[in-house]
Amino acid sequence: MNNSSSISRKLRLATLYFFPACLSVAFQSYVLANPVNSNSPEHQRRASISYAKARAGALENDSMGGGTSALVSQQDESTSTPESSQDVDHLVISNLKPVQGETIMVSSSHPGEVKFNNESVSLFADAADGQPRYSALIAIPAQLKPGTYQLLSGGLVESLAVGNAHYGTQRLSLPKSKDNFQASPGEKEQMEKAKKTVSSEKMWSGVFQHPVKHARLSTRFGLKRIVNGKPLKDYFHSGTDFAAPQGTPVLAAAPGRVIVAHTGWRLHGNTVCIDHGRGVVSISIHMNTIKVKPGDSVEAGQQIGTVGKTGRASGPHLHYGIYVNNVASNPDYWFRNTY
Ligand SMILES: [Zn+2]
Repeated sequence: MNNSSSISRKLRLATLYFFPACLSVAFQSYVLANPVNSNSPEHQRRASISYAKARAGALENDSMGGGTSALVSQQDESTSTPESSQDVDHLVISNLKPVQGETIMVSSSHPGEVKFNNESVSLFADAADGQPRYSALIAIPAQLKPGTYQLLSGGLVESLAVGNAHYGTQRLSLPKSKDNFQASPGEKEQMEKAKKTVSSEKMWSGVFQHPVKHARLSTRFGLKRIVNGKPLKDYFHSGTDFAAPQGTPVLAAAPGRVIVAHTGWRLHGNTVCIDHGRGVVSISIHMNTIKVKPGDSVEAGQQIGTVGKTGRASGPHLHYGIYVNNVASNPDYWFRNTY
């Protein structure tokens, strides 16, 4: 080990942007530098593109395990001309090759919005030393056709290569009494409203924990379904199922605020929705009992109810879903990565 290069590397790292919310998202990261030219916003000139991978061994894309950090910046190149640093836009994307169902983080040096797949989401200010940073979470829809898509923010454009997650198909038999898709009055409306909740305060840090301990993961996210021989059009399994005996505690996976605690819905059964902030909402459905009420603040690991089979469920399990700006995200990413 060469001492001086180690020290200079440390010094260099010390000058880098710190991208705290994304530390353990283990993917290649990317910095786009673009001088602001307010006179010609239509010209998205890319002054320089610095591309860096996380340290050797960084995962290419669809693997969700591990955790290498990707800290990248132009900052060290602009220290000699500090006045120019505020004229440089930076867009950092946690993974340029996400797969269906994956959540990625976009970080910018400017506030505003990020547009992807015809949806716009707000950038939120992050607490950071030095220059302000703003970030937004984007969930890649599970049924988005693999291919190249543009992501836009503040005059910057970047291409994302969305990969196929190869979610399979599941055949399911439900008893006649449960083979219905007739929601209770107000059920769909309340769930849709909950999934669209966006509050600016980020209430969680670190990974989400499994909401049921020692449970068997019975149905993975993303599976298409054939129920009683009928393929469900435009349907995919929008969460992760934890099979466990009725009455097993269901825990909050991360801190947040309860926005729905409802019993008796025909499809979802007994349901709790938790707002974690920044457009991230989790749902726990088919529960036997509920131990929280709307407005409650919950801590990670706090019991919110028990496993059941209420609503349209064939046996006792917790269906746990995570929505990011109203798009279902594969919870596995949240159990393994810090956003
Ligand atoms: Zn489920």
